[in-house]
Amino acid sequence: MFCVECGKDEPIFRNGVCLSCYLKHTQFTKGPAIMDITICPRCSSYKHKNTWVQEDFDEILKRYIKDVFSISSELKNVTIQTQCKEQDRILRCTVTFSGFLEDQQITEQHPLTVRIRRNTCDVCSRESGGYFEAIIQIRAEKRTFPKEELTILRTTVESLVGQLQKSGKRGLFITDYDENRQGLDFFVSEKTTAFSIAKKIQEQFGGEFKQSTSDAGMKDSKQVYRMTYLVRIPAYRKGDFFSFDASYFLISSLHENKVRALELSRWTEKVIEGKNIQPSKIFGGKELIREMIVVSQSKKELQVMDPKSYSTVEIQKPKLATIESPVVNTVKLDGYLFLVPA
Ligand SMILES: [Zn+2]
Ligand SMILES: [Zn+2]
Repeated sequence: MFCVECGKDEPIFRNGVCLSCYLKHTQFTKGPAIMDITICPRCSSYKHKNTWVQEDFDEILKRYIKDVFSISSELKNVTIQTQCKEQDRILRCTVTFSGFLEDQQITEQHPLTVRIRRNTCDVCSRESGGYFEAIIQIRAEKRTFPKEELTILRTTVESLVGQLQKSGKRGLFITDYDENRQGLDFFVSEKTTAFSIAKKIQEQFGGEFKQSTSDAGMKDSKQVYRMTYLVRIPAYRKGDFFSFDASYFLISSLHENKVRALELSRWTEKVIEGKNIQPSKIFGGKELIREMIVVSQSKKELQVMDPKSYSTVEIQKPKLATIESPVVNTVKLDGYLFLVPA
């Protein structure tokens, strides 16, 4: 067949013309010469269709291109590539579309000027305005916090917030933070998330959970309430030694208001109500543990030597204990010496 346009004897592709004549007259992609992209200067989020997204610039540029360019439905398996050069606040880009028209590969290029607009996003403007919906308060029962415990608590809350932000909670942030020996206060932007963070702290450190509401006045003719979530961490901690009912225990884990504790003369576990543990009967934690060298052992007893004083002493061996290591951990409570599991 002869092409009606070029007159060559070629297979007719469409409308009486050959493929190369068809391609000469057809543009498969069309778009503007200038495009604006909005970025938040504080958090580097990009605005896309009235929401803010945290993505790489290349990704967001492609999204925008897909929105504003029209691509012919004749073209299949289209890929978009961009190459940009920055000039002042303007990007001079080349957009390359590649796709297939039947088995013919088609490539089209367009120059595109991208203007970067700066606009503070919704979350950042709330953050800079000191916005918060809830306060997470962490306090201790009948004691003040040592510095290291405050650090552990603070990093725990911060890493929970970090994980949630990463998993897509863009609106979550800590507006303000207060720390003293009495405890910690976190001012949090979202109350439901603040609630779950406070609950996680209680799960991990034990203690009581209380919530209260306060009236924060009117905003946009609506009454605004703020929540306070209080976690009162008990006097005891995981790893502490305490006496109860004429026995001595090591706390192995905390479960809200209960503790799982190891009875030190038998090495058996027991669950005890936290409120039954008297703050005055808590001896302390791992700082009390002393290493001793095993000199000899029988079925029921262990002879150990203090590596500092070289004095030897016998300890009753708990039934459940098998000692294979040359060094053991011990603790002295009220003058009694106990073997502590490694
Ligand atoms: Zn032709
Ligand atoms: Zn922002």
